[in-house]
Amino acid sequence: MPGSPAPTPQPSEWRIGQGWDSHAFAAGRALWLGGVELPHERGLAGHSDGDVLSHAICDAIFGALGAGDIGSHFPPEDPRWRDASSLHFLREARRIANERGWCIGNVDSTVILSAPKLAPFRAAMRQSLAAVLGVSPDVISVKAKTPEGLPFGGDITMAQAVVLLARTNAE
Ligand code: MG
Repeated sequence: MPGSPAPTPQPSEWRIGQGWDSHAFAAGRALWLGGVELPHERGLAGHSDGDVLSHAICDAIFGALGAGDIGSHFPPEDPRWRDASSLHFLREARRIANERGWCIGNVDSTVILSAPKLAPFRAAMRQSLAAVLGVSPDVISVKAKTPEGLPFGGDITMAQAVVLLARTNAE
């Protein structure tokens, strides 16, 4: 109708969450990012597989749900999570979201690391994350930045993620 305001979604139809994580590189570890093993001389330290990208996305989902953080769901002192695939954490975050009546709308993420280059693995990471989250790879974004000017150089990798959840008819 002319002059009437455009329809807008009700606040309860959407939830946004953000996540952040960092892990240090360590010798003798495989490098896992977004559920994909990247060839590199070192991997990321951590109680699980150290997949900093999956952890940031997981925290973004829990944040959107107001459901705590990854540490409250998967305590690092719990031996069950030693060297665990972080895709398990993501699968569980998705399950909780679905159970509460939410599905993944889209994910945007940034990995900050000096090496290796992520571009050759970006498609595989998007595919891996999409499969676990039950969405198309089209709605999973994985960006990469080098830690230019930051003091930790190549010793640390960080990841940030934003997730939008959309209300389903499950509730
Ligand atoms: Mg972590």
